Amino acid sequence: MIDTHIHIDEEAYAPDREEVIARQREAGVEAMLIPGVNAASIEGILDIARRHPGYCYPALGLHPQDVAADWQTQWAVIEQAIRAHLDELIAIGEIGLDYYWDTTYKSEQQEVFRMQLELAQELHLPVMIHSREATEDCLRILKEIQMVNGKCPNSKLTGVLHCFNGSRETAQQILDLGLYLGIGGVITFKNCKLAETLAGGGRFERVPLERLVLETDGPYLAPVPHRGERNESRWMELVAERLALVYETDKKTIIEVTNSNAKRLFRLK
Ligand SMILES: [Zn+2]
Repeated sequence: MIDTHIHIDEEAYAPDREEVIARQREAGVEAMLIPGVNAASIEGILDIARRHPGYCYPALGLHPQDVAADWQTQWAVIEQAIRAHLDELIAIGEIGLDYYWDTTYKSEQQEVFRMQLELAQELHLPVMIHSREATEDCLRILKEIQMVNGKCPNSKLTGVLHCFNGSRETAQQILDLGLYLGIGGVITFKNCKLAETLAGGGRFERVPLERLVLETDGPYLAPVPHRGERNESRWMELVAERLALVYETDKKTIIEVTNSNAKRLFRLK
């Protein structure tokens, strides 16, 4: 399994981070991708990645929840770090829009989202996108960047909409934009409609397994029966089990296909 989104640099893992990483390796987790959220997180993420070459892979970006009055200063630092560490990075992220917590900096969120997407195109890096209560604006901006005359031919931008839990319509639009869907613990939650969404129905086909990647979003969103605990990558097995039901296959196949999807998308060796 490849965890395409884990905040292993966060405080929650500080007391025993090395043990946590060793435990995932032992359990068969092949790699962890670590998204950056702000300027302050840059050094910590690069440091963890350097201590675990070929296992922990860094991304840098400005998270929408970290967009505040100082966003331009933060972005300048992050952009410089992205350019300086280009050979180490596997993506720009985590970037996007979040209107759930706060809409004070809505237009600034949109502006820096656009800037980060443009930088990703310029540098040929995939993006890790976060969208919460902001689907319409997120899709609009992606289409502005990605589409020419309603199509996205030869697009330079690729990436993942992380922690996907949207509608069939939204899933289809994300696929049409050439992006992948990141699936995590949420799919195991009671009353969650994500499995049905992926399964398709009506005018929607089943979402191709070739467009899914696994993730934890750790320390958050641990799958059932670990809900509420600090998340670990090895528990993605529970996500794979749930997906196996949707795709009428076994867990092994889900893991193999999503592994190769993650390797292709993030050009992991
Ligand atoms: Zn995240």
